[in-house]
Amino acid sequence: LLTDDGVPIPTIFAEMSALAQQTGAINLGQGFPDEDGPAEILEAARAAIANGVNQYPPGRGIPDLRLAVAEHQRRFYGLDLDPDRHVLITAGATEALSSTLLALIDSPDDEVVVFEPYYDSYAACVALAGARLVTVPLAWPDFRPDLDRLRDAVTDRTRVILVNDPHNPTGAVFDDEVRAELVRLAIEHDAIIVGDEVYEHLTFDGHRHRPLATLPGAWERTLTISSAAKTFSVTGWKIGWVTGPAALVDAVLAVKQFLTYVNGAPFQPAVATALRLPDSFFAGIATTLEHKRDLLQDGLRTAGFDVAPSRGSYFVVADAAPLGATEAAAFCRELPARAGVVAIPLTAFVSDAARAEYATLVRFAACKRTEVLADAAARLAALR
Ligand code: PMP
Ligand code: GLN
Repeated sequence: LLTDDGVPIPTIFAEMSALAQQTGAINLGQGFPDEDGPAEILEAARAAIANGVNQYPPGRGIPDLRLAVAEHQRRFYGLDLDPDRHVLITAGATEALSSTLLALIDSPDDEVVVFEPYYDSYAACVALAGARLVTVPLAWPDFRPDLDRLRDAVTDRTRVILVNDPHNPTGAVFDDEVRAELVRLAIEHDAIIVGDEVYEHLTFDGHRHRPLATLPGAWERTLTISSAAKTFSVTGWKIGWVTGPAALVDAVLAVKQFLTYVNGAPFQPAVATALRLPDSFFAGIATTLEHKRDLLQDGLRTAGFDVAPSRGSYFVVADAAPLGATEAAAFCRELPARAGVVAIPLTAFVSDAARAEYATLVRFAACKRTEVLADAAARLAALR
């Protein structure tokens, strides 16, 4: 986490957003939308501040937000949660992940199995918790795991199987065979499943999100993590949640209360309002993003990239090898000067041992206004 000189290594997102600012390039690196979420939820946050919702909220989160999370899990997935025992509000999915891993890891021999490439905080939090990271590669262009490699990775040393679905950075949405195998392996090896489902409402082409917690035998060993950030386009609010059986949620609370204690008082009622938006809102955000994904993919193809399918999330992965790139990191450093666009090399999301496999792959964020994506496509066309 530190350089040889003892300086914190900036996250890839901070580094790339700074590069976009310095160069004036279009930022398709860090995944954040360039339009804020629905007016009624912004107004709900303003009203909460005006109405004095500014002091410490309860440790588990305000009751109405926990109720709204439970209602959401019932409406979309048929899950029956007790808002007082099965729901914990956290400072974004990021704190949900860190608290969960710190809570579940007991010993340096514990292993956490993740798909690779993985969201950057996974490896950092596993290191902070003092466990071992075991990776299962997702291969270009479908990024579907090889089930034999998954079976080899999960053993009796596995404490946690951490699954991000829909998947950042690849845009994969896993299928039911993969999901069933994950649950079967967790049961066989008595591991806890942690589902990072922050892109749950952002799936395309008829692919539907299915929480691992809904599979037979999964609920009692699964913690599900999500967040208001992506669904409601409020990435700076940092309101997330963990749902699952009471004993597991209590273990996460035991850690969370000493990390941030509580968080985001006036945003909590606003997110409760957001979670109760009509079905049409949730369908609409997926359709809008699907259209943006199409624009981005078309632009990347026209520019000469090979483009992987993206079935969900904010992201599209493209191979820069047809453009002569041999190393995506160097390609991305030069991209602002060559084309006025910032993107992230996939090697930022992989372990050292796996870098070669992802050497020329680049992640682009699609969660931008259509005119921004059109401008980016026009600029990228100059690469040909
Ligand atoms: N997990 C994944 C896969 C993500 O892409 C993000 C987005 N930053 C997070 C967790 C963190 O979400 P939050 O902003 O709610 O902390
Ligand atoms: N989730 C976002 C991404 O993958 C950014 C999160 C962050 O900046 N930590 O780009």
